[in-house]
Amino acid sequence: MSEPRIKAPRGTFDVLGEQASVRSSLESRARSILEGAGYERIETPVFEATELFARGVGSSTDIVSKEMFTFEDPGGRSLTLRPEGTAPVCRAYVEHGMHKRRQPVKLWYLSCFFRHERAQAGRYREFWQVGAEALGSDDPALDAESIALLATLLSQMGARELRLRLSSLGSPAGRESYRERLVAYLRAHEQELSAEVRGRIDANPLRAFDADDPGTRRVMQGAPRLLEHLDSSDLDHFAQVRALLDLASVPYEIDDTLVRGLDYYTRTVFEFTSDALGAQSGVGGGGRYDGLIEQLGGARAPGIGWAAGVERILLAGSASPAATPALELFVALQAPGSDARLAAFGLLAEARSAGLTAQMDLGGRSLKGQLSHAAALGARFVAIVSAGATVLKDMQAGAQRELPTDTVVHAVLRAQHAL
Ligand code: AMP
Repeated sequence: MSEPRIKAPRGTFDVLGEQASVRSSLESRARSILEGAGYERIETPVFEATELFARGVGSSTDIVSKEMFTFEDPGGRSLTLRPEGTAPVCRAYVEHGMHKRRQPVKLWYLSCFFRHERAQAGRYREFWQVGAEALGSDDPALDAESIALLATLLSQMGARELRLRLSSLGSPAGRESYRERLVAYLRAHEQELSAEVRGRIDANPLRAFDADDPGTRRVMQGAPRLLEHLDSSDLDHFAQVRALLDLASVPYEIDDTLVRGLDYYTRTVFEFTSDALGAQSGVGGGGRYDGLIEQLGGARAPGIGWAAGVERILLAGSASPAATPALELFVALQAPGSDARLAAFGLLAEARSAGLTAQMDLGGRSLKGQLSHAAALGARFVAIVSAGATVLKDMQAGAQRELPTDTVVHAVLRAQHAL
């Protein structure tokens, strides 16, 4: 009796074939857009000290309070599979003394993240994000540049029916009096709020704008809006970001209910959604986090960044798979036999050392099967190796000739030069 099959865990997926290729094309576009704008690649560990997210993302957020994969290592330390990328990047900025480099330091990543969410189409427990963070400057032009770069990436990936929502959360000092006003409003409507929102009125009143429950949504329609209570420097920063986005022709809608689910945001926040996606319409978003690095033990350094879901970009887009390299040489065996097989394997190795793309049949096919496989792969040359010599077929010209096996690579290279 065979053993029961083991399946991939719920909310995870395998990346196969064309999907892998489409992801490669996303990665190369992201690299060219972001590295062209001065972003350097960074990859941080898959797990971090749990404290990083508790302190960085905020214990009252859904991510930290309900969605983290946290475990204890054999040494008794609490570790967490990263649920997001900004806190780890800021940790790395502090840990590597990046404040000593020329500011802003611009970093980008393409990594997997983990959240224990209810799995459904477009929402997974392990998912991928491409992200970009610019640290060490509070210039509003950095906000506008960052948003424009994501807009470019999404448009190059063919993301359909996109909308960009934009708002400002002000700075913590500036929003203190607003916060008191909002808490008072929520207390006055406490009975109509969901238990969850009621439970975090003091810890995180702004998150009430994010609630799905109809009672809370009704209450929030009449709630005071932060955008109407920003102080003058936050208002000025927001006005500059908007003017620069206009200048860069990036369309946006102001949404004064946009708060985002992470506690570290200050001033600019934004989110791209696609109406082509169903319930999970968020494609990517981010904002400014001027206090985060200090909160993680670094010297004060402002920052702005975003993360966009790779699976969501692909669902919303029409990206074509990256082109696979053309096959220059297919090595076939005239007939099964160990001498010819050795010669063929030697030829394959020699061709690859010379920089040619080369494959050989390793599936025990007949010569006819090998030739049709080579044709399906679009091989430019096919070398049919026998114990004594090799027949080299030029598949484009339709010509063939016999030659010593150790001259085949030379002949292919010469023929390519002649093209
Ligand atoms: P966030 O880090 O929550 O701001 O999310 C940024 C983007 O990551 C979202 O707009 C989604 O595109 C993507 N994302 C977040 N959570 C998930 C998930 N559980 N599954 C798939 N994509 C996700």
